[in-house]
Amino acid sequence: MTGATGGSTRVVEADVAIVGAGAAGLSLAHRLSDPAPGGARPSVVLLEAPPGPLQPPPRTWCSWQAGPGRWEEAVAASWRRLRVRDRNGSATALATGPLRYTMIRSRDFEALAGRDLARRGGVLRLEATVGQVCDAPGGAEARAVTRDGAPLAVRARWLFDTRPPPAPPPARTTLLQHFHGWFLTTREPAFDPATVELMDFRTPQPPRGLSFGYVLPTGPRTALVEYTEFSARPLEPQAYEAALRHYAENVLGLGERHITGTETGAIPMTDGRLAPRAGRSVFRLGTAGGATRPATGYTFAAVQRQAGAVAAALRAGRRPVPPPAYPARARAMDAVLLRALATGRVEGAAFFPRLFREVPAGRLLRFLDGRTRPHEDLAVGLRTPVGPMLRTAAELPLLRRRPAAGPWPRASRPAPPPARPPAAPATAPADQADHAATVPTAPSDEE
Ligand SMILES: Cc1cc2nc3c(=O)[nH]c(=O)nc-3n(C[C@H](O)[C@H](O)[C@H](O)COP(=O)(O)OP(=O)(O)OC[C@H]3O[C@@H](n4cnc5c(N)ncnc54)[C@H](O)[C@@H]3O)c2cc1C
Repeated sequence: MTGATGGSTRVVEADVAIVGAGAAGLSLAHRLSDPAPGGARPSVVLLEAPPGPLQPPPRTWCSWQAGPGRWEEAVAASWRRLRVRDRNGSATALATGPLRYTMIRSRDFEALAGRDLARRGGVLRLEATVGQVCDAPGGAEARAVTRDGAPLAVRARWLFDTRPPPAPPPARTTLLQHFHGWFLTTREPAFDPATVELMDFRTPQPPRGLSFGYVLPTGPRTALVEYTEFSARPLEPQAYEAALRHYAENVLGLGERHITGTETGAIPMTDGRLAPRAGRSVFRLGTAGGATRPATGYTFAAVQRQAGAVAAALRAGRRPVPPPAYPARARAMDAVLLRALATGRVEGAAFFPRLFREVPAGRLLRFLDGRTRPHEDLAVGLRTPVGPMLRTAAELPLLRRRPAAGPWPRASRPAPPPARPPAAPATAPADQADHAATVPTAPSDEE
């Protein structure tokens, strides 16, 4: 790694430059800092946005894992049973076999990655806002501005950009997976800590798309409870609060509870193309590089696969083009499903419970992660409403990809949940205490 001053611009050179220190940037930096046989590790510069609006708020990543993974120390909870409920509450419970559904909180992930990077060396972390990235003689260059307003240029043989794109790509269909959740503690035991409520459709359904409740129990009295929609537009903050309160009180029947934190997000679900390649030496990774599965919003597992493949290519001296996050087949099936949901041809609240009822658990979980073989995809396809899906598939080639209506949704810190009197003080765990409120058992105003 070398540093120099070109005029008033500080210039830093390395083998690899990574822009963004979120899930994708840190995962790649962590792999590249792995001890290597013969000690030949690439020099890496990791550029991260200074604290402020470009840094996403803390979040929770869940994914399916076969064994202990690279981030095991950061796993906050894991489950081997899941449940899906249809609109009437009829439940399908599945054992997840060799797979575990694991929850990692971004703060724990960042702390673990940060500790390892500092211990191993080889990765220079710089705080700067990156403006332009482009190919340059001998590789690529990122132009940035530091916290103090000083210009910085990072030159590298290879550059990986993980900044979210300015807008979703032109697409035939773009829905949003948008959600709001509470980390909460109940007074009485209310949860089965062994079982995730993956999709609970006992929520009022929007006219187009779908909604469901999602419960990640971390103990008999503690859970992350979320209200999620797949639909065209996000809701106002009060509407999320009302929907979540309705789900917690009227559906789950939770009594007195203390809200120790919140999580809000909006993930574009699009059949537009987010190409991993942005230049001869410039590649996109993570959400920016198409790692979000269009029909589910799952991203974290694909980020790990992409980071692993890129690091292996660099070690082997190959061109480190990130592989597509999902097979073309999976993306084509997702495009059909997104369209069928967006047009209302397929009713989401019936579709998903049927899939979980009729497809063997192992196959379905691998399908959701984009890791099934063609005959398995066909078997899954046959468990969907075949007529509407085929009609939608026939229509897709005739549709134009249209530019997105708005910018890429920015994650913002949600408004604190409304405290309702009497707000009994309680102690929130420090790492969850974004906002805190105690909600007594009372019928909701919104109902
Ligand atoms: C609330 C929430 C919950 C989610 N839960 C799950 C889940 O359970 N499972 C799952 O698989 N996926 C989940 N996702 C989707 C996905 O895993 C996350 O969005 C994940 O953070 C994507 O990682 P990334 O590195 O691609 O992007 P990010 O984590 O957003 O990282 C991008 C990085 O770029 C930096 N940056 C931006 N602009 C600049 C700039 N100009 N200069 C320098 N740096 C910059 C940012 O500070 C950030 O660190 C969730 C998303 C959200 C929003």
